[in-house]
Amino acid sequence: MTDVGGESPVEPADAFGALASEHRVAVLRAFADAERDGDRTLSFTEIYDALELDSTSQLSYHLDHLEGVFLRRSEEGYALNRAGEDVMRAVLAGSFTETPTFEPLSLSGECPGCPGTAFEATYEDGLLTVRCVDCEMRIVTYDLPPAAVVGRSERQVLEACDSRVRHEYAVAVGGTCAKCGGVAAVRVEERESRGRTDAYAVAHCERCNNRVFAPVAAHVLFHPAVVAFYWRHGVDSTAIPFWDIGRYLDAWDVEVTGLESGEPSVSVTVRYAGESLALSMDADLSVAVVASTGAE
Ligand SMILES: [Zn+2]
Ligand SMILES: [Zn+2]
Repeated sequence: MTDVGGESPVEPADAFGALASEHRVAVLRAFADAERDGDRTLSFTEIYDALELDSTSQLSYHLDHLEGVFLRRSEEGYALNRAGEDVMRAVLAGSFTETPTFEPLSLSGECPGCPGTAFEATYEDGLLTVRCVDCEMRIVTYDLPPAAVVGRSERQVLEACDSRVRHEYAVAVGGTCAKCGGVAAVRVEERESRGRTDAYAVAHCERCNNRVFAPVAAHVLFHPAVVAFYWRHGVDSTAIPFWDIGRYLDAWDVEVTGLESGEPSVSVTVRYAGESLALSMDADLSVAVVASTGAE
């Protein structure tokens, strides 16, 4: 197992303090511009020319704050280190600063709380939310960085979010945090949502505390047997939009046992068009087919 090592770590307060100046953020932007031109190393003079400063001593002062935190210096000049690249990309992505506009978008789906089929998607404070128009139940919420919204139509944002949800969930349930790359512990736990308690598959990053969760039953939606089951009925289960998965899951039977013992076992009976397919899942979410009814 590997651990933190190498150079002495930088305290978070020092790292963020190093950015507490528009000129130092401008230095990072200068590296972003240079990278677009295929350059990763800049000399003192090149950085000075890219900024609007009154003197070279001012630049020395700012570079002193950045060196070792976000920049490394070599004989050729200055370059971003790994942390510098991460911050520079976050600045470019607008994660800290931008609040893109998003006109509420009408979607169709089946509300689990009422007979309504009209949904509305909104985007605020970095959160994409889909609600039922009739009963205002929140169907799904997903955190989406500004860069995923800017430059796309509302419809395209939803499509991009849809593939992002699948990807991040698959990576997280595979044991890797999609935010920081750290180790994600995967477990089945009960959560309250929409006034009822359901079993969820939760991937919790031990490093950055990021949590990704989805109803545990949704995990079987991508199992080949389930994909084939729906495909026989003309439904591509891999293409069901994330805000409408509940419509399919609500017809299933889900039973979770052994939660208290820490060794949960999940039984799922997938039901569609009068046929069923029974599956089971272990604590590590490995899926086995138990039985199926209906035409093969
Ligand atoms: Zn509703
Ligand atoms: Zn993480």
